[in-house]
Amino acid sequence: MQITSKDLIKVLEAMGQTIASHKDYLTELDAAIGDADHGINMDRGFSAVVAKLVMLEGACCGTVLKTAGMTMLSTVGGASGPLFGTAFMNAGNAVMGKYEMGAEDAAKAVDAAVQGVMKRGSAILGDKTMVDTLLPVSKYMGTEEYLKAESIDAMQKVLVLAEDGMNSTMGLIAKRGRSSFLGERSAGHLDPGAVSSYLLIGAAVRLLGGDCF
Ligand code: ADP
Ligand code: MG
Repeated sequence: MQITSKDLIKVLEAMGQTIASHKDYLTELDAAIGDADHGINMDRGFSAVVAKLVMLEGACCGTVLKTAGMTMLSTVGGASGPLFGTAFMNAGNAVMGKYEMGAEDAAKAVDAAVQGVMKRGSAILGDKTMVDTLLPVSKYMGTEEYLKAESIDAMQKVLVLAEDGMNSTMGLIAKRGRSSFLGERSAGHLDPGAVSSYLLIGAAVRLLGGDCF
């Protein structure tokens, strides 16, 4: 599997589209256990990222990802801005200077992204956050199984793990972020950031699955 910086630009475009079309849904989820702004925050950030993509043609994978992260950091409000911003900036730093990423590079970028989220937000698996979607994916991408798998199988597994992680948040009690103020009442709802993370991963998998293999 090789992912070019051009592919990454298309991935970010696809991410922007999926966030825009799920904006109201993400906001509804946040209305139940937060402050009803997650869809608005994410859409603001990704709209700003998509607007910058035209200037990134010809840039390396690292610059594309890092610019996306810096843009999110400066435009997305709430907790999710710094967290997703850090994720994309760290991913960019992990592949700086590369114009093509292999499976190992992709794994390194995703690991750096998730480590960044966990360091910045201090959430661990089971805290009912975006980490519940992201960590199983980065763990799998660090295995031999992932590196040896056919790309299409690896991508499918990534999507299944992300979906399972997202769904796991339904029964959990929030330990981090705004929803933790609800205590036990946060159970019975999906975590908005876990859902947006799944949507982002889904956009990447669909785009790369269609265009790179
Ligand atoms: P805010 O909570 O500030 O309104 P958003 O609504 O945009 O920000 O984002 C909420 C999402 O951010 C949550 O659903 C959760 O997934 C994620 N989140 C919040 N705090 C943390 C944290 N400390 N670590 C990881 N993710 C977090
Ligand atoms: Mg919110």
